[in-house]
Amino acid sequence: MRPIALALVLAALSGPALACGPDALGVSRTLRVGTLGGGAVGLKTYPRTLPLAPGEVVLTFDDGPMPGKTERVLAALDAECVKATFFMIGRNAAAAPRLAARVLQEGHTVAYHSMTHPNMRHLGVAAAQANIDKGFQAVDEAVYGDAWNEPRAPFFRFPGFADSPALDSWLASRDIVVFGADLWAGDWEPMTPDQELARLLARLDRSKGGIVLLHDIQPRTVAMLPRFLRALKEKGYRIVHLVPGPGPLETRPAPAGWTSETERILRSSAKGAGG
Ligand SMILES: [Zn+2]
Repeated sequence: MRPIALALVLAALSGPALACGPDALGVSRTLRVGTLGGGAVGLKTYPRTLPLAPGEVVLTFDDGPMPGKTERVLAALDAECVKATFFMIGRNAAAAPRLAARVLQEGHTVAYHSMTHPNMRHLGVAAAQANIDKGFQAVDEAVYGDAWNEPRAPFFRFPGFADSPALDSWLASRDIVVFGADLWAGDWEPMTPDQELARLLARLDRSKGGIVLLHDIQPRTVAMLPRFLRALKEKGYRIVHLVPGPGPLETRPAPAGWTSETERILRSSAKGAGG
Protein backbone atom coordinates (compact mmCIF):
# COMPACT_ATOMS: atom_id res chain seq x y z
CA MET A 1 0.00 0.00 0.00
CA ARG A 2 1.34 3.42 -0.88
CA PRO A 3 2.06 5.71 2.11
CA ILE A 4 -0.62 8.22 1.18
CA ALA A 5 -3.29 5.52 0.94
CA LEU A 6 -2.14 4.03 4.24
CA ALA A 7 -2.41 7.43 5.89
CA LEU A 8 -5.95 7.83 4.60
CA VAL A 9 -6.95 4.40 5.90
CA LEU A 10 -5.44 5.15 9.31
CA ALA A 11 -7.22 8.47 9.44
CA ALA A 12 -10.52 6.81 8.57
CA LEU A 13 -10.01 4.06 11.17
CA SER A 14 -9.16 6.43 13.97
CA GLY A 15 -12.00 8.80 13.06
CA PRO A 16 -12.01 12.27 14.49
CA ALA A 17 -9.72 11.38 17.38
CA LEU A 18 -6.64 12.46 15.42
CA ALA A 19 -8.12 15.89 14.72
CA CYS A 20 -9.83 16.36 18.08
CA GLY A 21 -7.10 17.94 20.13
CA PRO A 22 -7.61 19.97 23.28
CA ASP A 23 -8.27 23.05 21.15
CA ALA A 24 -11.46 21.54 19.67
CA LEU A 25 -14.78 22.31 21.37
CA GLY A 26 -15.61 18.59 21.65
CA VAL A 27 -18.41 16.85 23.55
CA SER A 28 -18.20 17.30 27.30
CA ARG A 29 -20.67 14.53 28.14
CA THR A 30 -23.44 12.38 26.69
CA LEU A 31 -26.82 12.71 28.41
CA ARG A 32 -29.03 9.63 28.22
CA VAL A 33 -32.55 11.05 28.11
CA GLY A 34 -35.10 8.67 29.62
CA THR A 35 -38.26 8.43 27.52
CA LEU A 36 -40.41 6.04 29.58
CA GLY A 37 -43.82 7.71 29.94
CA GLY A 38 -42.82 10.58 27.64
CA GLY A 39 -42.71 14.17 28.87
CA ALA A 40 -41.72 17.53 27.43
CA VAL A 41 -38.75 19.85 27.97
CA GLY A 42 -37.67 23.30 26.80
CA LEU A 43 -38.36 26.54 28.69
CA LYS A 44 -39.67 28.46 25.66
CA THR A 45 -42.73 26.19 25.76
CA TYR A 46 -42.74 24.09 28.94
CA PRO A 47 -42.13 24.87 32.63
CA ARG A 48 -39.18 22.47 32.79
CA THR A 49 -36.06 21.56 30.88
CA LEU A 50 -33.24 19.02 30.85
CA PRO A 51 -31.06 18.82 33.98
CA LEU A 52 -28.13 20.69 32.43
CA ALA A 53 -25.47 22.38 34.56
CA PRO A 54 -24.65 26.07 34.08
CA GLY A 55 -22.53 26.46 30.95
CA GLU A 56 -23.81 23.27 29.31
CA VAL A 57 -25.22 23.61 25.79
CA VAL A 58 -27.28 21.20 23.67
CA LEU A 59 -27.22 21.94 19.94
CA THR A 60 -30.34 21.10 17.92
CA PHE A 61 -30.95 21.61 14.20
CA ASP A 62 -34.45 21.57 12.70
CA ASP A 63 -36.10 21.22 9.30
CA GLY A 64 -33.37 19.38 7.35
CA PRO A 65 -31.79 17.55 5.81
CA MET A 66 -31.19 20.07 3.02
CA PRO A 67 -28.58 19.36 0.33
CA GLY A 68 -26.00 22.12 0.08
CA LYS A 69 -26.59 23.26 3.65
CA THR A 70 -26.70 20.26 5.99
CA GLU A 71 -23.31 19.10 4.65
CA ARG A 72 -21.79 22.41 5.73
CA VAL A 73 -23.35 22.10 9.17
CA LEU A 74 -21.91 18.59 9.47
CA ALA A 75 -18.48 19.86 8.42
CA ALA A 76 -18.56 22.65 11.01
CA LEU A 77 -19.59 20.23 13.76
CA ASP A 78 -16.94 17.70 12.69
CA ALA A 79 -14.23 20.37 12.68
CA GLU A 80 -14.97 20.96 16.39
CA CYS A 81 -15.69 17.29 17.25
CA VAL A 82 -19.19 18.22 18.37
CA LYS A 83 -22.38 16.12 18.27
CA ALA A 84 -25.88 17.54 17.85
CA THR A 85 -29.50 16.44 17.51
CA PHE A 86 -31.21 16.87 14.13
CA PHE A 87 -35.02 17.10 14.12
CA MET A 88 -35.69 16.06 10.52
CA ILE A 89 -38.74 16.64 8.37
CA GLY A 90 -39.82 13.32 6.85
CA ARG A 91 -40.36 14.81 3.41
CA ASN A 92 -36.85 16.26 3.38
CA ALA A 93 -35.27 13.01 4.57
CA ALA A 94 -37.12 11.09 1.86
CA ALA A 95 -35.81 13.54 -0.76
CA ALA A 96 -32.19 13.28 0.47
CA PRO A 97 -31.85 9.84 2.09
CA ARG A 98 -28.07 9.58 1.78
CA LEU A 99 -27.60 12.94 3.47
CA ALA A 100 -30.09 11.93 6.19
CA ALA A 101 -28.17 8.70 6.77
CA ARG A 102 -24.87 10.57 6.86
CA VAL A 103 -26.08 12.62 9.84
CA LEU A 104 -26.44 9.39 11.84
CA GLN A 105 -23.18 7.92 10.49
CA GLU A 106 -21.32 10.96 11.76
CA GLY A 107 -22.51 10.22 15.27
CA HIS A 108 -25.34 12.71 15.65
CA THR A 109 -28.78 11.93 17.05
CA VAL A 110 -31.53 11.79 14.44
CA ALA A 111 -34.93 12.90 15.77
CA TYR A 112 -38.26 13.82 14.21
CA HIS A 113 -40.18 16.95 13.24
CA SER A 114 -43.28 15.58 11.37
CA MET A 115 -43.73 14.64 7.71
CA THR A 116 -44.56 18.02 6.14
CA HIS A 117 -44.17 20.60 8.95
CA PRO A 118 -47.82 21.65 9.33
CA ASN A 119 -49.20 23.63 12.25
CA MET A 120 -50.65 20.64 14.10
CA ARG A 121 -53.30 22.82 15.78
CA HIS A 122 -54.80 23.47 12.35
CA LEU A 123 -55.24 19.74 11.75
CA GLY A 124 -57.64 17.31 13.36
CA VAL A 125 -56.04 14.99 15.90
CA ALA A 126 -56.16 11.99 13.54
CA ALA A 127 -54.57 13.95 10.67
CA ALA A 128 -51.89 15.32 12.98
CA GLN A 129 -51.12 11.83 14.29
CA ALA A 130 -50.87 10.52 10.72
CA ASN A 131 -48.49 13.34 9.77
CA ILE A 132 -46.29 12.65 12.80
CA ASP A 133 -46.24 8.89 12.13
CA LYS A 134 -45.43 9.39 8.45
CA GLY A 135 -42.55 11.58 9.54
CA PHE A 136 -41.20 8.84 11.84
CA GLN A 137 -41.42 6.31 9.01
CA ALA A 138 -39.94 8.51 6.27
CA VAL A 139 -36.96 9.52 8.41
CA ASP A 140 -36.29 5.95 9.55
CA GLU A 141 -36.55 4.58 6.01
CA ALA A 142 -34.07 7.20 4.82
CA VAL A 143 -31.66 6.87 7.73
CA TYR A 144 -31.88 3.16 8.66
CA GLY A 145 -33.29 1.64 5.47
CA ASP A 146 -36.49 0.50 7.16
CA ALA A 147 -39.13 1.66 9.62
CA TRP A 148 -40.61 -0.07 12.66
CA ASN A 149 -43.89 0.72 14.40
CA GLU A 150 -42.07 3.16 16.67
CA PRO A 151 -39.34 5.69 15.84
CA ARG A 152 -35.74 4.57 16.47
CA ALA A 153 -34.97 7.55 18.71
CA PRO A 154 -38.14 8.60 20.58
CA PHE A 155 -37.48 12.37 20.38
CA PHE A 156 -40.05 14.64 18.68
CA ARG A 157 -40.34 18.40 18.20
CA PHE A 158 -43.62 19.98 17.08
CA PRO A 159 -43.37 22.30 14.06
CA GLY A 160 -43.58 25.83 15.44
CA PHE A 161 -43.91 24.29 18.95
CA ALA A 162 -47.65 23.99 18.23
CA ASP A 163 -48.46 21.01 20.42
CA SER A 164 -51.84 20.09 21.91
CA PRO A 165 -52.83 18.19 25.06
CA ALA A 166 -54.25 15.33 22.97
CA LEU A 167 -51.07 14.95 20.90
CA ASP A 168 -48.81 15.36 23.93
CA SER A 169 -50.55 12.52 25.75
CA TRP A 170 -50.62 10.35 22.63
CA LEU A 171 -46.83 10.75 22.29
CA ALA A 172 -46.36 10.13 26.02
CA SER A 173 -48.34 6.90 25.73
CA ARG A 174 -45.73 5.77 23.19
CA ASP A 175 -42.77 6.76 25.41
CA ILE A 176 -41.80 9.62 23.08
CA VAL A 177 -40.30 12.77 24.61
CA VAL A 178 -41.32 16.17 23.20
CA PHE A 179 -38.53 18.74 22.78
CA GLY A 180 -39.02 22.45 22.90
CA ALA A 181 -35.98 24.73 23.22
CA ASP A 182 -34.48 26.93 25.92
CA LEU A 183 -33.21 29.63 23.58
CA TRP A 184 -32.78 30.66 19.96
CA ALA A 185 -31.51 33.52 17.85
CA GLY A 186 -34.63 33.43 15.68
CA ASP A 187 -32.67 32.33 12.59
CA TRP A 188 -35.90 32.19 10.56
CA GLU A 189 -36.13 35.99 10.76
CA PRO A 190 -34.20 38.31 8.43
CA MET A 191 -30.78 39.04 9.96
CA THR A 192 -27.16 38.78 8.96
CA PRO A 193 -24.97 35.90 10.18
CA ASP A 194 -23.11 38.42 12.37
CA GLN A 195 -26.36 39.57 13.95
CA GLU A 196 -27.42 35.98 14.55
CA LEU A 197 -24.07 35.19 16.17
CA ALA A 198 -24.19 38.23 18.44
CA ARG A 199 -27.78 37.56 19.46
CA LEU A 200 -27.09 33.89 20.23
CA LEU A 201 -24.04 34.64 22.35
CA ALA A 202 -25.83 37.40 24.28
CA ARG A 203 -28.79 35.13 25.01
CA LEU A 204 -26.50 32.27 26.04
CA ASP A 205 -24.71 34.57 28.44
CA ARG A 206 -28.06 35.39 30.04
CA SER A 207 -29.39 31.82 30.17
CA LYS A 208 -25.99 30.25 31.06
CA GLY A 209 -26.54 27.58 28.41
CA GLY A 210 -29.46 25.31 27.56
CA ILE A 211 -31.09 23.66 24.55
CA VAL A 212 -30.33 25.87 21.53
CA LEU A 213 -32.63 25.82 18.49
CA LEU A 214 -30.95 26.31 15.10
CA HIS A 215 -32.00 25.44 11.55
CA ASP A 216 -29.61 23.59 9.24
CA ILE A 217 -31.65 24.87 6.29
CA GLN A 218 -30.92 28.55 7.08
CA PRO A 219 -27.96 30.03 5.15
CA ARG A 220 -27.24 32.56 7.94
CA THR A 221 -26.90 29.73 10.45
CA VAL A 222 -24.69 27.73 8.10
CA ALA A 223 -22.52 30.82 7.65
CA MET A 224 -22.08 31.69 11.33
CA LEU A 225 -21.86 28.17 12.77
CA PRO A 226 -18.03 27.76 12.68
CA ARG A 227 -17.59 31.10 14.49
CA PHE A 228 -20.36 30.24 16.95
CA LEU A 229 -18.67 26.95 17.89
CA ARG A 230 -15.31 28.72 18.27
CA ALA A 231 -16.93 31.30 20.53
CA LEU A 232 -18.51 28.57 22.68
CA LYS A 233 -15.05 27.09 23.17
CA GLU A 234 -13.47 30.44 23.98
CA LYS A 235 -16.21 31.30 26.48
CA GLY A 236 -15.91 27.95 28.24
CA TYR A 237 -19.30 26.47 27.30
CA ARG A 238 -19.51 22.66 27.28
CA ILE A 239 -21.44 20.62 24.71
CA VAL A 240 -23.82 17.88 25.86
CA HIS A 241 -24.83 15.21 23.35
CA LEU A 242 -28.34 13.78 23.80
CA VAL A 243 -29.16 10.12 23.21
CA PRO A 244 -32.26 8.14 24.22
CA GLY A 245 -31.88 6.30 27.51
CA PRO A 246 -33.80 4.00 29.86
CA GLY A 247 -36.27 5.00 32.57
CA PRO A 248 -38.33 8.16 32.91
CA LEU A 249 -37.38 11.65 31.78
CA GLU A 250 -35.40 13.69 34.32
CA THR A 251 -36.06 17.42 34.32
CA ARG A 252 -35.27 20.66 36.11
CA PRO A 253 -38.16 23.07 36.85
CA ALA A 254 -38.38 26.53 35.30
CA PRO A 255 -37.53 29.54 37.46
CA ALA A 256 -40.39 31.19 39.38
CA GLY A 257 -42.53 33.46 37.24
CA TRP A 258 -42.11 31.30 34.13
CA THR A 259 -44.51 31.77 31.21
CA SER A 260 -44.64 30.05 27.82
CA GLU A 261 -43.18 32.34 25.17
CA THR A 262 -44.23 30.09 22.29
CA GLU A 263 -47.83 29.98 23.53
CA ARG A 264 -47.90 33.77 23.48
CA ILE A 265 -46.48 33.79 19.93
CA LEU A 266 -48.88 31.07 18.74
CA ARG A 267 -51.88 32.99 20.06
CA SER A 268 -50.81 36.30 18.54
CA SER A 269 -49.59 35.08 15.15
CA ALA A 270 -51.19 32.99 12.45
CA LYS A 271 -47.70 31.98 11.35
CA GLY A 272 -46.87 30.32 14.64
CA ALA A 273 -43.58 30.31 16.50
CA GLY A 274 -40.44 29.66 14.51
CA GLY A 275 -38.94 26.22 14.62
ZN1 LIG B 1 -39.38 23.43 12.04
